[in-house]
Amino acid sequence: MFGIDSFVVTVPSAEEHEIRFSAEISVANDISCYGLEYVLDEPVNVSGSLSRQEKDVFLSLSLKGEVQTCCTRCLDPLRIAFDEVFLYLFSASQDIEHPSEQEDSDVEYLIVDVPSLEQTLDITEQVWESLILSLPQNPKCREECPGLCPFCGKKLESRRCDCAASLQDEKQTGFSVLKGMLTDES
Ligand SMILES: [Zn+2]
Ligand SMILES: [Zn+2]
Repeated sequence: MFGIDSFVVTVPSAEEHEIRFSAEISVANDISCYGLEYVLDEPVNVSGSLSRQEKDVFLSLSLKGEVQTCCTRCLDPLRIAFDEVFLYLFSASQDIEHPSEQEDSDVEYLIVDVPSLEQTLDITEQVWESLILSLPQNPKCREECPGLCPFCGKKLESRRCDCAASLQDEKQTGFSVLKGMLTDES
């Protein structure tokens, strides 16, 4: 279902304040999303903390790693580091209003309703979801990358092609031909 092994964490007991965890995960297969291919050839560091407030468990999830993909403009291979934090609230309280919504409106938790709180929590889905969200959606080798010529596919950076100039000619010729055809028909 997910491209990673299952990730299970220990839930703090009602009295405990916080549990911290850290692990390296590997992503076996390339990920295709946002119209690109992402290769995670190095392990990704997944760390975080869990804290409990009665029937709610707050999870702060941090993902750190490097991904190989390509520039969306010139298609050059790129290696990009990512370091992101995601906040989840696992709630077994079945309350309509969750504590996070009442307390701090600046902090946004993604709420996951769970039927009950066990000693462990399977957060594979949240780790996978966070990993996908950590991938750069519009990677560029540099902000002002000129990309490829849309006509001949050559890199505009290394060598300027003559496409723009010849296209101008072609447009004129094409228009003249069309004009000629219309004149012939009438
Ligand atoms: Zn580029
Ligand atoms: Zn060109």
